[in-house]
Parts: sequence; structure tokens; C-alpha cells
Amino acid sequence: MDLITWLIVGVLAFAVVVAGTMFLARRRALPPAPKTPALPTTEPEARAEPGPAAEGGQESATGTATLERPEAPSTRMARLRRRLAGSNNPLARGLLSILSSDRLDADVWDDFEATLITSDLGVGPTQELTEALRRELVVDGVGDPAHAKAVLRHELLNLVGPNTDRSLNLQGEDGKPAVVLVVGVNGTGKTTTIGKLSRVLVAEDKSVVLGAADTFRAAAAEQLQTWGDRVGVPTVRGPEGGDPAAVAYQAVQRGIDEGADVVIVDTAGRLHTKTGLMDELGKIKRVIEKLAPVTEVLLLLDATTGQNGLIQARVFAEVVQITGIVLSKLDGSAKGGIVVQVQRELGVPVKLIGLGEGVDDLVPFEAEAFVDALLSE
Ligand code: GDP
Repeated sequence: MDLITWLIVGVLAFAVVVAGTMFLARRRALPPAPKTPALPTTEPEARAEPGPAAEGGQESATGTATLERPEAPSTRMARLRRRLAGSNNPLARGLLSILSSDRLDADVWDDFEATLITSDLGVGPTQELTEALRRELVVDGVGDPAHAKAVLRHELLNLVGPNTDRSLNLQGEDGKPAVVLVVGVNGTGKTTTIGKLSRVLVAEDKSVVLGAADTFRAAAAEQLQTWGDRVGVPTVRGPEGGDPAAVAYQAVQRGIDEGADVVIVDTAGRLHTKTGLMDELGKIKRVIEKLAPVTEVLLLLDATTGQNGLIQARVFAEVVQITGIVLSKLDGSAKGGIVVQVQRELGVPVKLIGLGEGVDDLVPFEAEAFVDALLSE
């Protein structure tokens, strides 16, 4: 190789080294190239966009909106105490008055009895409570207030029924949904209670279907559907003035078809005649039971209506076999004694209580919590 050839080779080699160095320097300045072929980027981009979930902050890990959880039972119990505590409630005031008496003479006991009777406790339970207390307190009187209060609590609890089974029967048979029939006079709170109950059930991951078998009032079906939409459960409706039993049947059929856990059927509460009521409720129940047994019949009773409410309750109990009582409006002006009297009269436990119009104002009834709320000062 002559000199010229050596020079050409040298220049070419130099040029290759310079070009290589420049190329490497440029590469370092660029972002690293993907190791794998580029994937469509819609997913990360979509995540970056502020969607409704991001705004509401209610998106679960699976991408579905998380369910709003109902208020914890302990908070509801605190509300029960507030509503029934001594200074707010005549029954509670009457009960506590005995503890603050200097001397337990005949007048004191007479006043005590009168207060309990006017607080809807009923004559029988009032006499039983008074006699038990007179017997227990005859020796010590109320000299030891803590002991007297414990005696009062014990006797009152016995009247309310501390060991009564108050659970709702929501166990369907043969893989079919449980069916809850809700009955009671219009305005007692049937629709509202169904809405609140559905909310609790949905929060327990139960699937629910509602049946608007009060076909006499268009507003009733509307209201039920509004509740259904709110908690995300379907509402089966029929034409206004249509056959309530047909709507109940369709609701249960839908529950079966969809594999629902619970079907709740709202009914009309027109106390026109006892025979009319009997025919209507009897037919609804018979027709439902062609498909599935009715597992729970809940009677709504407005706690503020006292003796009137009790008379209505008796009529319903005669026409359909009630399995549980829901006592609504135990907030407000209710005196509370009705809990004892209605259970005694109908031989059916109070299972749920309504403490207001809010979505979380339905509480499972617990004898101890109720008595403690009454006796809290
Ligand atoms: P229905 O005719 O038996 O279906 O009764 P609704 O459910 O329509 O209730 C009648 C009224 O009572 C409505 O204004 C409800 O908001 C109200 N209500 C229902 N339950 C309660 C409760 O526990 N407390 C109070 N204060 N109001 C209630």
C-alpha cells in the first residue's frame, strides 16, 4: 500500500470515529427508546383525564362507583338516646321522676301510674311495672338512687322483651328471593321505610327488587320508584288503578328471574272496610305465594298516633299474619310506651324503628338500647 492509500484509509477511519462519537452524543440527549414496540397509549391518557370519578372521588379499584355506606349503627343509637332522653320525652320523665322522689307514698305511685298510662304504655304493663317497683323498692325506697335505677331498668327491660328474636326473615326458600310484604295505614311511613331498608340491604351486597302494589295512588308508586332509583334497585310498577296483586306477582317473578335476594312489596293502606282490606291483602299474599313464600309481613305503625294507631294495627293483624312491627316517627312527639303496648296487644315484636325522615333514620330495635335511652338523663 502506498502513502496515498494509507492517507485515504486514515481519513476514512477518522471520519467513522467522529461520526460514531457524534451519533452516540445525540442518542444520549434523546429520551430512551422503548425496549418493546410502542403500545397504544389510550389507557394512561384516559387515566390522566379528570373524569366524573376523579371529580367525585367515588371510584372503586374495579372502576365501578363505590356504594355509599349507610350510617353506622352506633351513631344511630346516639340519635335514639337524644330523641328519647329524660328531658325530651314524657315517658322518660315519668320514669325518672320516681327516682327523684323523697318519699314513695301513695300519691307518688298514683302520679307515676298516670304518667305511664298517658305515655301509651298500656294499663296492664303500667300496673305490672308499678307493682314490681313497689315490691322491690319497699325496703330501701330510693335512698340508693343507683340501686333504684337498676331495679327500674331491669323491670322495664322485662316488659320490652330483652330476649325476643327481632331479626328480619330474609332467607328465601329453594333459591328464591325472600319476600317482604309491607302493610299499614297510608301515611304511617311504608314507602319511606322500604326505601331506607333497601339502602341497608344494598349496602350489605344484597340484590333487591321493589314492587309498587299501591296502585291506588300514583304518587305512592312514584315515591317508591324515586327511592329505588336512589339506591339503585329496580321498581316494578303497574298501571294506576290496576290490580295490586298482579304487580306484586310481577315483582316477585322479576326477583326470581334476576336471582334477587329480597323482593319488598309496598301495599295500599286504605282502611275503607275491613272486608275490602282483607280481600286485597289476602289476595296479594295468595298470589305471591304461587311463586314464593312471603317470609316477612311488616306492619307500619306511626308511634305518634298512640291509641288510634293501635286500633288500626289490630285491624291489620286480623286480616294478615304480621311477623314484625316497624314503629315509625319515634322521634317527634311519640311517647315511646307504644313499643310495649303494641307488642303485648299483637304478640309480635317491634323489629325496626324510624327516627326521622332522613335516609339513615331506620334502626333495628334493641330492647336494651331503647330502655337505656329512656333512662338517660
Ligand atoms: P306511606 O303512605 O305509608 O307510604 O307513608 P310515607 O312513607 O309516604 O310517609 C309519610 C310521611 O311520614 C312522609 O312525609 C315521611 O317522610 C314521614 N316519615 C316516615 N317515617 C318517618 C319517621 O320515622 N320519622 C318522621 N319524623 N317522619 C317519617
